[in-house]
Amino acid sequence: MIDILKNMQKYCTKCGIITNSDGDLHCRTTLLSEVKSLINKKKYKEAENLVSLTRGDSNWENWKNKMIERFLYEPIKHQKKIEEQLNFKETLASLAKKELILDSSRKQFENEANKYGVRLTDIVDDYGPTALASILLKLNERKNIEKNEIEWLESKKYYYLLGKYYYWLYKGELHYDQIPNWSKEITKNTNVSTNSILSGNGKIVDDNNLWELSKSCKYFRKAKKPEMAIEISNGFEPYMEIKPSKENSAVFTSKGGAFKDLRKIDSAKKCAQKAIELNKDSFHAHNLLGAIYFLENDFETGMYHFVKAIEFGSNPRNHELEIKSILEESDTVSRKKIRDYLLEKDSNKYAWVSDFK
Ligand SMILES: [Zn+2]
Repeated sequence: MIDILKNMQKYCTKCGIITNSDGDLHCRTTLLSEVKSLINKKKYKEAENLVSLTRGDSNWENWKNKMIERFLYEPIKHQKKIEEQLNFKETLASLAKKELILDSSRKQFENEANKYGVRLTDIVDDYGPTALASILLKLNERKNIEKNEIEWLESKKYYYLLGKYYYWLYKGELHYDQIPNWSKEITKNTNVSTNSILSGNGKIVDDNNLWELSKSCKYFRKAKKPEMAIEISNGFEPYMEIKPSKENSAVFTSKGGAFKDLRKIDSAKKCAQKAIELNKDSFHAHNLLGAIYFLENDFETGMYHFVKAIEFGSNPRNHELEIKSILEESDTVSRKKIRDYLLEKDSNKYAWVSDFK
């Protein structure tokens, strides 16, 4: 009987001490609590040194890297962001009151404004802070903005800013007070309780946010920054197996559209085909593919996809808009080919293309 009990005794797989936890949890818990206590005392360098001194198998090393990133570096980055935010807020208040401010503060403020794709004069004019100023303050504090504010931004063509906003929504970078998703993962893996140290954010993508990703892409394209749209949509692929869904299809349509903007026709076509594979009824994807074939002067195939798009619910007006934008962006030779093709196809329906000389 005693032998059986003895056999049930657990040893920490890292240091060998008798413990009541599984695996190397004993050592993880000990190290984490020491790190936390150093961080609380703002002894960041010591915390970093302490962690880097430990060595272990690949599981241990993986855990260690994750832990140091999330418990040490993320909170420091977060603190820096808060300081920047305060500076932004204070400078804006001073500007609004027409107080003299340091050139360096003004410079920093301008840089911050540029990150949103806006100029200083958009934020503060002769009459004080503009409507944009209050929205920027919210964004600077990573707060959600209201629906009417989004509509206002759109009407004023602040597309770049909207692109960023939706990107933050997608990444879960708004609301620092929420416990980020990855903390759950750490808790699950180590049984170590997470507490106030977890204030930074670094949420891992899940497909609920993919609509926000495609919106972000859409606005970056409108802001004439298709390369941003491609960069951010590249980010999500490695995280997951891509299943057929409207959301996944929308991301590929946006990405394909961005490639089309850059005239990277092969990549654009691959994305559009992938989008159709993920959602065969997507009229957005068919419209995109139609436009791509038109750009390649393969009008028959292009028309096939435009017709498909209308079958799947696209407003025929979209078809006209697509063709207009292709005509606008084409050189005179291609323009003539497109014109001739469409007039021959249906000279009544496409009578308007004659305006594009
Ligand atoms: Zn141990």
